[in-house]
Amino acid sequence: MKTFEDIVAFHGHACPGLALGYRVSLLAMKELGDRATDEELVAIVENDSCAVDAVQVITGCTFGKGNLIFRDYGKQVYTFIKRPKGQGIRISIDFSPLEETDEEKRMWERYNKGDRSDKVMNAVHARKTKKIDMIVHAKDEDLFQISRGTMTVPNEAEIYPSLRCSLCTEKVMETRARVRHGKIVCIPCFERSGSNLQHVRQKRRRKKQ
Ligand SMILES: [Zn+2]
Ligand SMILES: [Zn+2]
Repeated sequence: MKTFEDIVAFHGHACPGLALGYRVSLLAMKELGDRATDEELVAIVENDSCAVDAVQVITGCTFGKGNLIFRDYGKQVYTFIKRPKGQGIRISIDFSPLEETDEEKRMWERYNKGDRSDKVMNAVHARKTKKIDMIVHAKDEDLFQISRGTMTVPNEAEIYPSLRCSLCTEKVMETRARVRHGKIVCIPCFERSGSNLQHVRQKRRRKKQ
Protein backbone atom coordinates (compact mmCIF):
# COMPACT_ATOMS: atom_id res chain seq x y z
CA MET A 1 0.00 0.00 0.00
CA LYS A 2 1.27 3.45 -0.91
CA THR A 3 1.82 5.88 1.97
CA PHE A 4 1.11 9.57 2.46
CA GLU A 5 4.84 10.18 1.84
CA ASP A 6 4.54 8.45 -1.56
CA ILE A 7 1.75 10.82 -2.52
CA VAL A 8 3.65 13.90 -1.36
CA ALA A 9 6.61 12.73 -3.47
CA PHE A 10 4.34 12.43 -6.51
CA HIS A 11 2.41 15.66 -5.93
CA GLY A 12 5.35 17.84 -4.89
CA HIS A 13 4.08 19.20 -1.59
CA ALA A 14 1.88 18.27 1.37
CA CYS A 15 -1.42 20.16 1.48
CA PRO A 16 -4.94 19.74 2.92
CA GLY A 17 -6.37 18.87 -0.51
CA LEU A 18 -3.91 16.04 -0.88
CA ALA A 19 -4.81 14.80 2.60
CA LEU A 20 -8.49 14.72 1.64
CA GLY A 21 -7.69 12.72 -1.49
CA TYR A 22 -5.64 10.36 0.65
CA ARG A 23 -8.56 9.71 2.99
CA VAL A 24 -11.00 9.24 0.13
CA SER A 25 -8.65 6.73 -1.48
CA LEU A 26 -8.04 4.78 1.73
CA LEU A 27 -11.78 4.35 2.16
CA ALA A 28 -12.23 3.26 -1.46
CA MET A 29 -9.45 0.70 -1.07
CA LYS A 30 -10.89 -0.59 2.21
CA GLU A 31 -14.30 -1.13 0.62
CA LEU A 32 -13.43 -2.21 -2.91
CA GLY A 33 -10.13 -3.98 -2.46
CA ASP A 34 -6.88 -3.84 -4.34
CA ARG A 35 -5.21 -1.02 -6.19
CA ALA A 36 -6.07 -1.13 -9.89
CA THR A 37 -3.26 -2.55 -12.02
CA ASP A 38 -5.50 -2.49 -15.06
CA GLU A 39 -9.01 -1.09 -15.40
CA GLU A 40 -10.86 -3.24 -12.87
CA LEU A 41 -11.47 -0.17 -10.74
CA VAL A 42 -12.78 3.11 -12.12
CA ALA A 43 -12.70 6.47 -10.34
CA ILE A 44 -14.96 9.32 -11.32
CA VAL A 45 -13.71 12.61 -9.87
CA GLU A 46 -15.78 15.78 -9.96
CA ASN A 47 -12.90 18.28 -9.61
CA ASP A 48 -9.27 18.56 -10.65
CA SER A 49 -7.81 19.61 -7.29
CA CYS A 50 -4.70 18.36 -5.45
CA ALA A 51 -6.83 15.50 -4.08
CA VAL A 52 -6.92 13.78 -7.47
CA ASP A 53 -3.16 13.18 -7.37
CA ALA A 54 -3.66 11.15 -4.19
CA VAL A 55 -6.44 9.18 -5.86
CA GLN A 56 -4.15 8.28 -8.74
CA VAL A 57 -1.25 7.12 -6.55
CA ILE A 58 -3.28 5.15 -3.99
CA THR A 59 -6.02 3.59 -6.10
CA GLY A 60 -4.14 3.15 -9.38
CA CYS A 61 -6.97 4.87 -11.23
CA THR A 62 -4.95 7.14 -13.46
CA PHE A 63 -5.51 9.65 -16.21
CA GLY A 64 -3.29 7.73 -18.63
CA LYS A 65 -4.97 4.34 -18.12
CA GLY A 66 -8.37 5.83 -18.77
CA ASN A 67 -9.89 4.57 -15.51
CA LEU A 68 -9.87 8.06 -14.01
CA ILE A 69 -12.82 9.99 -15.35
CA PHE A 70 -12.91 13.74 -14.79
CA ARG A 71 -16.28 15.44 -14.63
CA ASP A 72 -15.78 19.19 -14.32
CA TYR A 73 -18.52 19.86 -11.75
CA GLY A 74 -16.38 21.66 -9.17
CA LYS A 75 -17.61 19.29 -6.45
CA GLN A 76 -15.64 17.40 -3.84
CA VAL A 77 -17.23 14.12 -4.88
CA TYR A 78 -15.42 10.89 -5.71
CA THR A 79 -17.08 7.74 -7.00
CA PHE A 80 -15.33 4.40 -7.29
CA ILE A 81 -16.83 1.50 -9.23
CA LYS A 82 -15.50 -2.01 -9.50
CA ARG A 83 -15.82 -4.14 -12.62
CA PRO A 84 -17.48 -6.34 -13.62
CA LYS A 85 -20.40 -6.23 -11.18
CA GLY A 86 -20.46 -2.49 -10.64
CA GLN A 87 -20.27 -2.41 -6.87
CA GLY A 88 -19.57 1.19 -6.04
CA ILE A 89 -19.05 3.81 -3.40
CA ARG A 90 -19.78 7.53 -3.77
CA ILE A 91 -17.86 9.71 -1.35
CA SER A 92 -18.83 13.33 -0.92
CA ILE A 93 -16.51 15.38 1.25
CA ASP A 94 -18.31 17.37 3.91
CA PHE A 95 -15.66 18.61 6.25
CA SER A 96 -15.46 21.80 8.28
CA PRO A 97 -11.99 22.56 9.56
CA LEU A 98 -11.57 24.10 13.00
CA GLU A 99 -12.25 27.82 13.19
CA GLU A 100 -9.11 29.87 12.78
CA THR A 101 -7.91 31.71 15.85
CA ASP A 102 -7.71 35.53 15.69
CA GLU A 103 -3.94 35.25 15.59
CA GLU A 104 -4.09 32.82 12.64
CA LYS A 105 -6.48 35.14 10.80
CA ARG A 106 -4.11 38.08 11.34
CA MET A 107 -1.17 36.07 10.03
CA TRP A 108 -3.15 34.93 6.99
CA GLU A 109 -4.12 38.52 6.20
CA ARG A 110 -0.49 39.59 6.39
CA TYR A 111 0.49 36.67 4.12
CA ASN A 112 -2.13 37.70 1.56
CA LYS A 113 -0.77 41.24 1.59
CA GLY A 114 2.63 39.87 0.60
CA ASP A 115 4.30 39.61 4.01
CA ARG A 116 6.82 36.74 3.78
CA SER A 117 8.60 37.34 7.11
CA ASP A 118 9.66 34.30 9.14
CA LYS A 119 6.92 34.96 11.66
CA VAL A 120 4.16 34.95 9.04
CA MET A 121 5.60 32.03 7.06
CA ASN A 122 5.93 29.90 10.20
CA ALA A 123 2.35 30.67 11.21
CA VAL A 124 0.98 29.85 7.75
CA HIS A 125 2.96 26.64 7.63
CA ALA A 126 1.83 25.62 11.12
CA ARG A 127 -1.81 26.25 10.21
CA LYS A 128 -1.48 24.11 7.09
CA THR A 129 0.23 21.31 8.99
CA LYS A 130 -2.51 21.40 11.63
CA LYS A 131 -5.20 21.14 8.95
CA ILE A 132 -3.46 18.22 7.23
CA ASP A 133 -3.10 16.48 10.57
CA MET A 134 -6.78 16.94 11.36
CA ILE A 135 -7.82 15.48 8.01
CA VAL A 136 -5.47 12.51 8.24
CA HIS A 137 -6.76 11.61 11.71
CA ALA A 138 -10.47 12.49 11.43
CA LYS A 139 -13.16 9.83 11.57
CA ASP A 140 -14.76 8.87 8.25
CA GLU A 141 -18.12 10.17 9.48
CA ASP A 142 -16.64 13.60 10.22
CA LEU A 143 -15.19 13.86 6.71
CA PHE A 144 -17.60 12.17 4.33
CA GLN A 145 -21.15 11.56 3.23
CA ILE A 146 -21.05 8.05 1.85
CA SER A 147 -23.44 6.10 -0.35
CA ARG A 148 -22.97 2.58 -1.61
CA GLY A 149 -24.66 0.45 -4.23
CA THR A 150 -24.50 -1.03 -7.68
CA MET A 151 -23.54 1.59 -10.24
CA THR A 152 -23.27 1.70 -14.00
CA VAL A 153 -19.73 0.88 -15.05
CA PRO A 154 -18.38 3.31 -17.65
CA ASN A 155 -17.08 1.74 -20.87
CA GLU A 156 -13.47 0.65 -20.92
CA ALA A 157 -11.05 3.03 -22.60
CA GLU A 158 -11.12 2.36 -26.33
CA ILE A 159 -8.39 2.72 -28.90
CA TYR A 160 -9.31 4.25 -32.26
CA PRO A 161 -7.38 4.51 -35.53
CA SER A 162 -5.43 7.68 -36.29
CA LEU A 163 -6.14 10.01 -39.19
CA ARG A 164 -3.81 12.66 -40.54
CA CYS A 165 -4.75 16.34 -40.23
CA SER A 166 -4.70 17.94 -43.67
CA LEU A 167 -3.37 21.23 -42.30
CA CYS A 168 -0.65 20.48 -39.71
CA THR A 169 -0.12 16.86 -40.96
CA GLU A 170 -0.03 15.53 -37.38
CA LYS A 171 -1.97 12.40 -36.51
CA VAL A 172 -5.26 12.65 -34.66
CA MET A 173 -7.50 9.98 -33.13
CA GLU A 174 -10.48 9.31 -35.40
CA THR A 175 -13.11 10.28 -32.82
CA ARG A 176 -11.46 13.71 -32.30
CA ALA A 177 -11.08 14.59 -35.98
CA ARG A 178 -13.12 17.39 -37.56
CA VAL A 179 -13.98 18.13 -41.16
CA ARG A 180 -13.40 21.60 -42.63
CA HIS A 181 -14.20 22.20 -46.33
CA GLY A 182 -14.36 18.45 -46.87
CA LYS A 183 -10.89 17.85 -45.38
CA ILE A 184 -9.94 16.11 -42.18
CA VAL A 185 -8.42 18.44 -39.61
CA CYS A 186 -7.44 18.21 -35.93
CA ILE A 187 -9.26 20.27 -33.30
CA PRO A 188 -6.58 23.01 -32.92
CA CYS A 189 -6.46 23.48 -36.72
CA PHE A 190 -10.25 23.40 -36.89
CA GLU A 191 -10.47 26.15 -34.28
CA ARG A 192 -7.68 28.17 -35.84
CA SER A 193 -9.14 28.01 -39.33
CA GLY A 194 -12.52 28.87 -37.84
CA SER A 195 -11.19 32.08 -36.32
CA ASN A 196 -9.38 32.90 -39.60
CA LEU A 197 -12.65 32.54 -41.42
CA GLN A 198 -14.25 34.94 -38.97
CA HIS A 199 -11.51 37.48 -39.65
CA VAL A 200 -12.12 37.15 -43.38
CA ARG A 201 -15.86 37.60 -42.89
CA GLN A 202 -15.35 40.66 -40.71
CA LYS A 203 -13.03 42.20 -43.31
CA ARG A 204 -15.58 41.57 -46.03
CA ARG A 205 -18.29 43.13 -43.94
CA ARG A 206 -16.13 46.17 -43.27
CA LYS A 207 -15.44 46.57 -47.00
CA LYS A 208 -19.14 46.51 -47.76
CA GLN A 209 -19.89 49.33 -45.29
ZN1 LIG B 1 -1.47 20.47 -3.30
ZN1 LIG C 1 -3.89 19.97 -37.46
